[in-house]
Amino acid sequence: MNLLSTWINDLKNVIFPDICPGCNENVLPAGRIFCTECLLELPFTDHFEVKDNKVTAHFYGRIPVKGGASLVYFSSNGNIQEVMHRFKYKGQKNVGLAFGHIVGEKILLSSHFYNTDAIIPVPLHKDKEYIRGYNQSTVFASGISETSKIPVYKDVLLKTAKNESQTGKNRLERVHNVSSVYQLRHPEKIKGKNIVLVDDVITTGATLEACCDLLFQAQPSTISIITIACAV
Ligand SMILES: [Zn+2]
Repeated sequence: MNLLSTWINDLKNVIFPDICPGCNENVLPAGRIFCTECLLELPFTDHFEVKDNKVTAHFYGRIPVKGGASLVYFSSNGNIQEVMHRFKYKGQKNVGLAFGHIVGEKILLSSHFYNTDAIIPVPLHKDKEYIRGYNQSTVFASGISETSKIPVYKDVLLKTAKNESQTGKNRLERVHNVSSVYQLRHPEKIKGKNIVLVDDVITTGATLEACCDLLFQAQPSTISIITIACAV
């Protein structure tokens, strides 16, 4: 970084100080997303090194994913809940970008993800994206792309309707309920390719399962799943 851009960053920090999204306290030096304490406290998984993990186990027998990984565990204690909340609802896109940067580096070193051709974010309905200002999955995907140089295809999956309530539905009903709101576009872009579907959090997995069902119609070579956090 040259001197001028360092000054500009320092000045920006004085006017809009970068506060750590984990503790909401420490003011960070330019370019840092988390303070050291919060970074050390993040519950990182070993999913990029270990192929048989909680994510692949979650989808076993449901959809044939080549690889699955979450970067961190979503636990109710610790700082990850607050960090994800800030990313999703408080406009802190830099959090998702930072997680994406880490994942991008891990993908290149991982035996089950290294040959990825394209990254596909789970889409948001356009009304929701307008209100939030961004699709959190696309932000995460962009971060991955910045360090891995793997392209992001934002126009392959589209969310065309809003979800109905999932309450009282069994797993198959949930997947069916979810799949009717997504559409596959430009299937030729992913035919024969190794693709990775990305989302912010895995909870029931119904959204990811429904999106994979649609993506398989385009006959990709393989589909893998990566999320920032897993609550499974
Ligand atoms: Zn902190």
